[in-house]
Amino acid sequence: MVMALAIALSSCKKDPGNVLENEEKLAMDAELKASLAGDQLLTTQGAPLKVCVDKLSDSRPIILGQDDEISGRGVAVKGTKWPNGKTLRVFFINGGQVVRDNVMKFARRWANHANLRFVVAQSRAESDIRVGFKLNGDLGNWSWIGTDANYHRGEQTMNFGDLDRNSSDYAYSFYVLHEFGHAIGLGHEHLSPLANINWDKPAVYQYYMGPPNNWTRAQVTSNIFDKYKPREVRNTAYDTKSIMHYWIPNEFTLDDFSVDENAYLSDKDKIFIKRIYPD
Ligand SMILES: [Zn+2]
Repeated sequence: MVMALAIALSSCKKDPGNVLENEEKLAMDAELKASLAGDQLLTTQGAPLKVCVDKLSDSRPIILGQDDEISGRGVAVKGTKWPNGKTLRVFFINGGQVVRDNVMKFARRWANHANLRFVVAQSRAESDIRVGFKLNGDLGNWSWIGTDANYHRGEQTMNFGDLDRNSSDYAYSFYVLHEFGHAIGLGHEHLSPLANINWDKPAVYQYYMGPPNNWTRAQVTSNIFDKYKPREVRNTAYDTKSIMHYWIPNEFTLDDFSVDENAYLSDKDKIFIKRIYPD
């Protein structure tokens, strides 16, 4: 499976019981920020990376806009938001320590900007997100959206078909940030009704139906062209820098439009997720 701007942070009262937890979170954030300094050292490996396959449940996708309590740019799927402040327990169905550690490291970058925490779950039964690596030969990259994972209790909710112990930090950043964006309730930015991308459809079908994606024609249609309908959405703006936007080479469009391969959280991603999960 599927994103303004000064932000006023509301202050909230913290009872003594929360103080330690918040201090721990601040310490963790500082540590992560230090690691982010290396972002500019990450470079693409040349060939474009695969994009993720849409994984939409029965929930209706809604783009939140300025009329909503939560405003800003982005695509959030209504009804899939986790409770604010939640600690999300991540269970690894397979994969060695290196890939597990890398996934947690990059997933936690979202927690720098959202009132969420990610911890490794010790049991499948007590977990919220269940991650597999090429599980049962699945080479796709996908995740259920937000709390839709609860409809798949005990089952896999996220798959990485392209990550292994030899993958670059760039690849981890690209795949993990995107799939965990889905896992905390975000949809695909290029499906915003305001995207208005002038697709060269034959070129897009040809590309995605070939390797490494090997999608069916129907999958290309739903993943690339089926934008959210206006009646399903409200006002929004559109962010081509979002981690939730597919990369689009100029050859896929009939005009000068293109979107770079986004491997990092955009400034608007950070603002948007903070509004969904405020401190
Ligand atoms: Zn996706």
